[in-house]
Amino acid sequence: MTAGCILCGGTSVESVSQADRHGRPLTTVICKGCGLLRNDPVPTEAELEAFYRRDYRQDYKGAAEPRLRQVWRNLNRLQAHFATFRDIYAGGGHWLDLGAGSGEFTFLARTLGADVAAVEPNEAYAAYCRAKLDLDVRTARLEDCDFRPGQFDLIRLSHVLEHMRDPVASLTVLRGWLAPGGILYIEVPDIERDARNKMRGRLFHYGHIYNFNPFTLRQTALRAGLVELPRTKDRSAGQCGAFFTAGDAAPASAEMQQRNAARLSDAMTAHYARRLPEPEEGSPASRLLRTVAARLNEAYAGRRFKTHRAIADDAALRLRAVLQG
Ligand SMILES: [Zn+2]
Repeated sequence: MTAGCILCGGTSVESVSQADRHGRPLTTVICKGCGLLRNDPVPTEAELEAFYRRDYRQDYKGAAEPRLRQVWRNLNRLQAHFATFRDIYAGGGHWLDLGAGSGEFTFLARTLGADVAAVEPNEAYAAYCRAKLDLDVRTARLEDCDFRPGQFDLIRLSHVLEHMRDPVASLTVLRGWLAPGGILYIEVPDIERDARNKMRGRLFHYGHIYNFNPFTLRQTALRAGLVELPRTKDRSAGQCGAFFTAGDAAPASAEMQQRNAARLSDAMTAHYARRLPEPEEGSPASRLLRTVAARLNEAYAGRRFKTHRAIADDAALRLRAVLQG
């Protein structure tokens, strides 16, 4: 039998889905004690390793090399992130980009004067980073890393935690690698938002073992001895991306956790009851304008830049201008 929930210890779960986003069999359950969603069963270490070695490349993004427009999108998103959290990133220092993906963060972090260690488990992506962006990316998983305690001023964990079979244990390891006062940035997909905005049934993925919302993300960090950084709290409110630092705090009350479970359970029911995604905020006209503007912007970038490196260099230039301005 499975042990209790990694967050609340509860043993009562409810099935929310029997298929992944491609319609293949995959059971997802929600913990009725706190709202944490997870694949059931949680795959074994050996199963996961086999999955990533064999399937990830084809299954996940459809290609090992990102499209130019995806790189452009990632870089623009990062520009906005750096601008919003300028105070966090201005200090430089020793950083770790764990799950570097297609390398945009590591590339721009060098522009910010940081000394970045980059690690990516997927060999195809790591090879792309080395060949196209000239980055020193090591192919490894968290379990293979032997960093020293207190080595990093900042660790970035973007779209990685949801892939881990023991998120609390993994975060505890990362906390150990933080220097005193060091900061850990965690970003995961927001399953509650996805339930609203994605087409019916397009939610779950074999590789996403745990699915978080803003509440369960913070509770998971808490279990690993990480509290949200006070000075960024307001800016990250309601987001599934937040800054943490080592510290102790009491977990949310059982009542608050159950309320989150009920709310997420309702979100799942609503997701499967509707045919189309819920409209995003703003009037239909303003949403359309935003989409058109974004697509035009991407099309323009695709014509102007012929290589991944050219796009990244341009982004680094723009970032420097933003930081100096
Ligand atoms: Zn739970």
